[in-house]
Amino acid sequence: MISSKDAIDLEDKYGAHNYHPLPVVLSKGKGVYVWDPEGNKYYDFLSAYSAVNQGHCHPHIIKALREQGETLTLTSRAFYNNVLGEFEQKLTQLFGYDKVLPMNTGAEAVETAIKIARKWGYQIKGIPENEAKIIVCDNNFHGRTTTIISFSSNSNAKDYFGPYTPGFISIEYGNTDQLKEALKDDNVVAFLVEPIQGEAGVFLPDEGYIKAASDLCKANNVLLICDEIQTGIARTGSLLAVCGNCTCSNQCERQPEHYVRPDMIILGKALSGGVYPVSALLTDNIVMDVIQPGQHGSTFGGNPLGCKVALASLEVVENENLIQNARKLGEIFRNEMNKLKEECSLIVSVRGKGLLNAVVIDDDPSGDAAWNLCVNLKNNGLLAKPTHGNIIRFAPPLVMTEEQLMECVSIIGKTFKEYMN
Ligand SMILES: *Cc1c(COP(=O)(O)O)cnc(C)c1O
Repeated sequence: MISSKDAIDLEDKYGAHNYHPLPVVLSKGKGVYVWDPEGNKYYDFLSAYSAVNQGHCHPHIIKALREQGETLTLTSRAFYNNVLGEFEQKLTQLFGYDKVLPMNTGAEAVETAIKIARKWGYQIKGIPENEAKIIVCDNNFHGRTTTIISFSSNSNAKDYFGPYTPGFISIEYGNTDQLKEALKDDNVVAFLVEPIQGEAGVFLPDEGYIKAASDLCKANNVLLICDEIQTGIARTGSLLAVCGNCTCSNQCERQPEHYVRPDMIILGKALSGGVYPVSALLTDNIVMDVIQPGQHGSTFGGNPLGCKVALASLEVVENENLIQNARKLGEIFRNEMNKLKEECSLIVSVRGKGLLNAVVIDDDPSGDAAWNLCVNLKNNGLLAKPTHGNIIRFAPPLVMTEEQLMECVSIIGKTFKEYMN
């Protein structure tokens, strides 16, 4: 087998340098663990940015992949296929929407939401053509297409890729006064928001922010679009970080006064357990029906292989109680990190929900403490990645056991204390 060093050299030489990976090569994964070619084993605390909530190579999902892979993989939407309808029924019933539009990557599903919201604005809300505006939040992350980076506030993601797509208004995340002000514009068709800003560094808005946003949107005939690509599918201890209508609400212990039912939900990542790219946009007929044949699509969207994999991935979430496990382990993790904070001045703060958590390191965003800590964590058998310089995101697969989590807590504690000496 190729060595780690050779694998890194090949990527450096032949691949575009559009990422800055931690110096570790992964060649195998199982559940919460990954291995390098030399046989070193690591806990995965990134889970491919929450795409691998069900754990690496989950046997139930891989079985679906294998069986469907030997049967039928792609038909294009020029024809019906015998799995898409079942997938669509499952998604709409589970999340409580009339219809779903399947795509592949997260960014494609965000693009789908933007297109549909604009068309709804012209055809149903009745605003003048080409005047639609969508409100977004500062420090958002919704993907990498030309339109999506047009409303990014990250200059590294955006600079020199213009001219940008117009029609977006950016406001402060968590600020309902700014939202109220922005909604005064009659040409606003939608508010696109992450229930928790993951890429920005796991920023949680005040409890009630999304509910307030939902009420304001309703009052102004504006669509609320929640990007749950990272927060959805059990990651934050409920099926969606925001919901009130999905059939899991009996499990997710959310108080009815915080129930929110966005007009559109965007899913991706763990929708297919990190096995195959599947994304989806969920909404109701009045909105979805603005899209007619020929107006949107994707060669791979809704293919039978992806649909089967997604169905199996959702079954794992239900069968293995990943919602409850994420909630329980998340509380334990934040408790333990707060205890570590008492002993270790490196930690400024701990935040998160379910198993989407962040530890803020006492360093400027341009410093290298978080990066060096992640390298040391790797050397001690745990993989995590800094975001925005001084924040470490901790997001293991949701199939982790309490015993495994406690072992990870002790690896983190040991690494942080060693670093201080
Ligand atoms: C990852 C992510 C996306 C983009 O998904 P891709 O599959 O990488 O295109 C969009 N929104 C959020 C919140 C994400 O975390």
